[in-house]
Amino acid sequence: MHHLENEEQYQGLTVNSGVERLPDVNPYRRRVNRHEYTVGEFVEGILAGNKVILSQAVTMIESSLPRHQQMAAEIIEKCLPYAGRSERWGITGVPGAGKSTSIEAFGMELLRQGRKLAVLAIDPSSERSRGSILGDKTRMEQLSVQPDAFIRPSPSGGSLGGVARKTRETIVLCEAAGYDTIFVETVGVGQSEIAVHSMVDFFLLIQIAGAGDELQGIKRGIMEMSDGIAINKADGDNLQRARLAASNYRNALFLFPMPESGVRPQVLTYSAKTLDGVKEVIKMVEDHIALCRDNGTFEARRHRQDKYWMQETIDEALRNNFYRNPLIESMMEAKQQQVLGSEITAFRAAQDLLDTYFDSLSKK
Ligand code: GDP
Repeated sequence: MHHLENEEQYQGLTVNSGVERLPDVNPYRRRVNRHEYTVGEFVEGILAGNKVILSQAVTMIESSLPRHQQMAAEIIEKCLPYAGRSERWGITGVPGAGKSTSIEAFGMELLRQGRKLAVLAIDPSSERSRGSILGDKTRMEQLSVQPDAFIRPSPSGGSLGGVARKTRETIVLCEAAGYDTIFVETVGVGQSEIAVHSMVDFFLLIQIAGAGDELQGIKRGIMEMSDGIAINKADGDNLQRARLAASNYRNALFLFPMPESGVRPQVLTYSAKTLDGVKEVIKMVEDHIALCRDNGTFEARRHRQDKYWMQETIDEALRNNFYRNPLIESMMEAKQQQVLGSEITAFRAAQDLLDTYFDSLSKK
């Protein structure tokens, strides 16, 4: 090839003729990356327990591209007949209570018992931390390298409802892929507990012995939702305090009404570090689930959850459709100003917006 720079009169740097590009170290990598699976291939891969394909399908669920969402919906539908056969645990507790250490301890024990475990999370704040599970690499070090464990951080971004729905759909795919135990971790205290509670068979509250008045620190609602309480860090100097905390919780629970399951929550102590009591916590969950299966509340709870998610999905779709309506978007700011300026009431403003919205629908 002719290069100006190679002319004799040229005083600057010269251009060498270059070498042929070496083949990639991994000749398959580029091709695999470029390959887009069909719905059929996704489903086949998931049912065969292929973790890479499962992972990519979850990415579809989390994607905001309509094309991906459409595909995800088809994949989920095809997987649905194979789902539902796992035990779903919800795990909550304040940051530092030892959730990830405990998930690792419970998880490794369940794998030893021949189970297959998927660990998911709901963390509405994960946009900032880009998923707190595995956000720092030390979390679940052992579990993350086990062939029979699948760990997926919380979907990031969006409303709590959206994040929760994605996790709920991911459960379906994990179950179709053969995971017989699903953990859904939630971080912190607040609304996300309700979302997790509405997709699990057992809701486990992890606590630690605090500075004496630990009962005040947690919201009554969360205690009322839990199917069992496990006091972590019952080791070393902390053992007595953990036992005392357990008896305080036991007493407090007696003041609560009997849960719908008809099975009173138990309170146990354990250590995710020394593993003392870990088997007992697992047994508590298993026994509870077995009792609920026997008395029919297991099935009833899942039915109630299905209804709840149907309702939630409709609510969210309607809300989005309303707020993303161009007419509404253009009016919203002005209406807010009118309300703030006491020109019209909040109800009047809402009614104007709703009327405009319904009008725009009927004109379509
Ligand atoms: P998370 O924020 O709830 O996920 O809590 P982590 O699992 O990250 O644990 C928080 C801290 O508590 C870490 O420093 C752990 O090493 C420690 N920890 C967790 N479980 C135990 C336990 O059973 N005993 C003791 N002594 N420390 C623990």
